[in-house]
Amino acid sequence: MAKIIAVANQKGGVGKTTTSVNLSACLAYIGKKVLLVDIDPQGNATSGAGIEKGDVEECVYDMLVNDVDTKTVIKQTTVENLDMVPATIQLSGAEIELVSTISREVRLKRALASVASDYDYIFIDCPPSLGLLTINALTAADSVLIPVQCEYYALEGLSQLLNTVRLVQKHLNTELEIEGVLLTMLDARTNLGIQVIDEVKKYFREKVFDVIIPRNVRLGEAPSHGKPIIIYDPKSRGAEVYVELAKEVVAGGKKVR
Ligand code: ADP
Ligand code: MG
Repeated sequence: MAKIIAVANQKGGVGKTTTSVNLSACLAYIGKKVLLVDIDPQGNATSGAGIEKGDVEECVYDMLVNDVDTKTVIKQTTVENLDMVPATIQLSGAEIELVSTISREVRLKRALASVASDYDYIFIDCPPSLGLLTINALTAADSVLIPVQCEYYALEGLSQLLNTVRLVQKHLNTELEIEGVLLTMLDARTNLGIQVIDEVKKYFREKVFDVIIPRNVRLGEAPSHGKPIIIYDPKSRGAEVYVELAKEVVAGGKKVR
């Protein structure tokens, strides 16, 4: 049975998609069967994993709103062991359309249940909001991985996210855990980065992953080539750290509630 991990933070630009794509690909690289599910209407994970939007006939929208079978929506990526449920801009209507549908919060959970036994891990790349799409991800997931950018105001907004996690734990998914908080885009040359690490560790303690993702030019370039970092530049620091993170996740993450 797959472990399902939602990658969530309602702030944009904190490294959700970079982490979803590269952690998925690195787990696939070390031999795990992985499904990456894009639920952001911007579809950045879809293109970052090398899926051409023009090749997508049915996307996650059809799965969530029109009950299209998950297996028909899944696409193989160019990375061995990595499959994908793609998103297109069509998904931008889903947040509103889902409001009036039956069992609106559990649609993703139900859709993934039919394929969970085919994979070791399923990652869900969330949009930058705490709306119904993110709620669907948190309801479907075993755990949530929270990327936090090493910048000023890093902790701002996280109490809303944690509040949403608590509400989902209470009403929709009592088993939901926090997989871990991942510090991203660290610029080791500045004192600010070090201060932010201290601050985040003080707040989240043992929930913070040991691996910290540095700012790495190759990580920023890879999406425009439609390749995860492990394919685009396997010798880069970016590839190394995401492989380390994959191993930390396999070892059990931070396993806390
Ligand atoms: P989110 O999905 O949270 O909005 P992204 O993963 O798309 O954030 O990251 C925002 C931008 O920062 C993207 O252009 C991405 O390529 C870049 N980026 C993310 N992580 C890194 C990193 N470690 N080093 C350099 N650039 C990064
Ligand atoms: Mg994103």
